[in-house]
Amino acid sequence: MPYLYETHCHTSEASGCASASAAEQVKHYKELGFSGVMITDHFFNGNTSIDRSKSWEEMVDDYCLGYENGKKAGDELGMTVMFGIEYTYRGTDFLIYGLDKDWVKAHPEIMELYVPELSKLVRSEGGIFVHAHPFRQVDYIDTIRLFPDDVDAVEVYNAGNRQDVMNERAEWYADSWGLVKTSGSDCHHLSQDTFGGIVTDEPLNDIQDYIRLIKTNSLSGILRAEKM
Ligand SMILES: [Zn+2]
Ligand SMILES: [Zn+2]
Repeated sequence: MPYLYETHCHTSEASGCASASAAEQVKHYKELGFSGVMITDHFFNGNTSIDRSKSWEEMVDDYCLGYENGKKAGDELGMTVMFGIEYTYRGTDFLIYGLDKDWVKAHPEIMELYVPELSKLVRSEGGIFVHAHPFRQVDYIDTIRLFPDDVDAVEVYNAGNRQDVMNERAEWYADSWGLVKTSGSDCHHLSQDTFGGIVTDEPLNDIQDYIRLIKTNSLSGILRAEKM
């Protein structure tokens, strides 16, 4: 029996552009038939709703509320809720999985690292580094930057991309470099009706299960849903 997971989801707790709370998101995904959700709010260099005048520790505590509230809701509903980060370098977005709150608290320098250094650090800590919507062209992304040697996977389907060609180019990119393919919804609102996600043969118990599947290129499939 296949299982479906969201890899790219925002919450109003931590993302300035999201209207759905973590609990609302998790409940909605449950209704849609997903088995779990990775919460990937915009980090402090992106569209964050976190007060940047606070201390680093306080900011990280506030940032993790999206994940923590989602996890609470997921535990009640039987959904696996996992922690991720959407980190931006001048609009070039990456999804980072495998770190946790204590790790982020101990590493404020991640705000200052260039992409290859950050990727190296994340991967040396056992995490994975995924290029989100690499060919999205919108006003907040100043140019397209590619880092084929620094990513574990490429999001070849992003339901938030406004034109199909942006996903088609991402597919070409992954094929051309032989990179693992992922898919995500980039969901910010309960009104969204297009979805991405990953399909697995076995249920994911935690983010380490996802990391293992990406590192061994063993996803069963990816979702490219126009409407759900
Ligand atoms: Zn956003
Ligand atoms: Zn996003």
